[in-house]
Amino acid sequence: MSDDPTRNLFQRASSTLVGGVNSPVRGEPYPYPEFIDHATGATVVDAEGTEYIDYVMGYGPLLLGHDPPEPVRTAIADAVDDGVMYGFSTEPEIALAEFVIDHVPAVERLRFVNSGTEATAAAVRLARGVTGRDKIVVMQNGYHGGHESFLVDGDPANPKPDSAGIPEAFAEQTLPVPFNDADAVTDVFAHHGDEIAAVLTEPLLGNCGIVEPVDGFHETLRDLCDDYGALLIFDEVITGFRVGGLQCAQGKFGVEPDLTTFAKILGGGLPVGAIGGRAEYMQAFTPTGDVFESGTFNGHPVTMAAGLATLEYAKANDVYDHVNSLGERLRSGLTEIVADTNHEYTVVGTDSMFKLLFTRSQDDSEPVPTTGADVRTGATHRWARLLRPAMKDHSVLLPPNQFESQFISAAHTEDDIDRTLEAYEHALA
Ligand SMILES: *Cc1c(COP(=O)(O)O)cnc(C)c1O
Repeated sequence: MSDDPTRNLFQRASSTLVGGVNSPVRGEPYPYPEFIDHATGATVVDAEGTEYIDYVMGYGPLLLGHDPPEPVRTAIADAVDDGVMYGFSTEPEIALAEFVIDHVPAVERLRFVNSGTEATAAAVRLARGVTGRDKIVVMQNGYHGGHESFLVDGDPANPKPDSAGIPEAFAEQTLPVPFNDADAVTDVFAHHGDEIAAVLTEPLLGNCGIVEPVDGFHETLRDLCDDYGALLIFDEVITGFRVGGLQCAQGKFGVEPDLTTFAKILGGGLPVGAIGGRAEYMQAFTPTGDVFESGTFNGHPVTMAAGLATLEYAKANDVYDHVNSLGERLRSGLTEIVADTNHEYTVVGTDSMFKLLFTRSQDDSEPVPTTGADVRTGATHRWARLLRPAMKDHSVLLPPNQFESQFISAAHTEDDIDRTLEAYEHALA
């Protein structure tokens, strides 16, 4: 055994877990993935005992930071005391559903599941069941979890599986178009209108740098779905209860989807997913309808308690004002820094999400990426090999690649933001 604790953990992990990790993005850093020992507030401490200001924040769920505030902690402890789960209905699942329905414009009914992937898979099955059609339109470089229908790239004329193990016949049912390209979506409906069950999109691309919608794009999607009888599904797994606060991105952008998927923040740090939407569609799920959906852990009482306590805490403590103003401070500080250093960077993000993209040969007339491809053509190696390690040297922990969003939590402070800006200033020098 060496005396490097991370190396030793990775050595053990490599003999027991595939690639030493349980999710591939964690395996990206060289030479070893980070192993976290513990965390508090906005800070994580790795196996070496080194502290970092954390902007991974669990990849999105940790709106309130690493240690749940007292009411959330109590809600979780009480739910565990009452027996961890039962496989029967409980009051907390109603209470969380009521909260979501009260705050999110396009949600009248809910089904709780256990991950974002489960939620999007079920939402698409529901859309197919309701419309009797098979094809779905998705955005190139969008992300909806690890499921056969969404691990597809290419274009509508030539959709291709994006993973081994996915039959061509599945991929053929998925039509990927560029985000923000109203003409491409209009065209795909002109060709396949009566075969399209749904358009599935994130309100902003949150897993590819952060690409915001251009004016009118969502309205075009809404109109096309209405004209052709397809359902509009917003995947708010990242944006839900973050962008736009409790009304979610659909409230902020003023567009009502037919179905919405949630996960991440909704579980207060525990595994969760949910499908929400208009009652006339939602009732097509079993038991009222004939679109099968079921789960042993669906509506898990500990998760429901944690999720409700988290959202109630956020509401009662002006958490969105806090995280959004820190987001503004960080984005504007970063914009000043890159203005002084190099025009090949773009600061992106909104509310409490941010990212510094290494976009190449950026010309000032088009300062922001509008498609996933714009982000993909950036200097991604430079981001991962130079920026990220340099930020770590300055005690700031970012996700392993240029694509994953970065998140500010209620536990971050102005001082954290200012220290982070100093770190960027050094790392970019
Ligand atoms: C994270 C994510 C998913 C997948 O959620 P899991 O809980 O990881 O299965 C789906 N859609 C979006 C937009 C996500 O960010």
